[in-house]
Amino acid sequence: MRIVFIGPPGAGKGTQCQRLVELLGIPQLSTGDMLREVQSNESALGRWIGRHLDAGELAPDHLVMRILAQRLEDDECRDGCLLDGVPRTVVQAHLLDEYFQPKGYGIDLVFDLQVPRELLVERLLKRAEIEHRSDDQLETIQARLKVFETLTAPLLEYYRRRRLLCTIDGNSTPEEVFAQIRDAIRHYDQGQAGSF
Ligand code: ADP
Repeated sequence: MRIVFIGPPGAGKGTQCQRLVELLGIPQLSTGDMLREVQSNESALGRWIGRHLDAGELAPDHLVMRILAQRLEDDECRDGCLLDGVPRTVVQAHLLDEYFQPKGYGIDLVFDLQVPRELLVERLLKRAEIEHRSDDQLETIQARLKVFETLTAPLLEYYRRRRLLCTIDGNSTPEEVFAQIRDAIRHYDQGQAGSF
């Protein structure tokens, strides 16, 4: 199964993906982690990406897709993967579709994690104290939320039209959110079995 998680920063994408890794036995691919890894290399590319991350801006679509595609080729992704934070733009969604198309498979489900804005800011400021991520500061958080609304939210309509979108109420405990996700996957699996 190939599952996409869409949600603003602080919505809980990473937390829920980690739980699903255990349930489904497929890897979590976080483009945020991949980009931070490149950033940590003392290279010109790393510094350039770091400037995007620290400003709360998205990294360029084609670069993100190139980095992601390399990971998707790994053997561990053969049976599926959890895409955490990618695609984040409609262009990325098209590039991903183009990547999957010749392989004869594609995205099976897209989770849209909905969380009220005040709660997101509260969660991210709390995370800043624990993880010291350079982009978890009020000004950058606000920039990232704005990027989500303008560039990422239009993706929801893209996937809704393709009947892949499943909206999840992310405004509750991680356990309750996970229960909704698990139910949706079960429901999806039953639908698949019924169609044979
Ligand atoms: P969050 O969801 O809290 O923003 P991530 O770790 O997913 O955390 O992303 C951190 C940053 O990495 C983003 O603000 C952005 O700069 C960059 N990034 C992550 N994924 C993508 C992507 N698919 N396209 C472009 N930039 C990305």
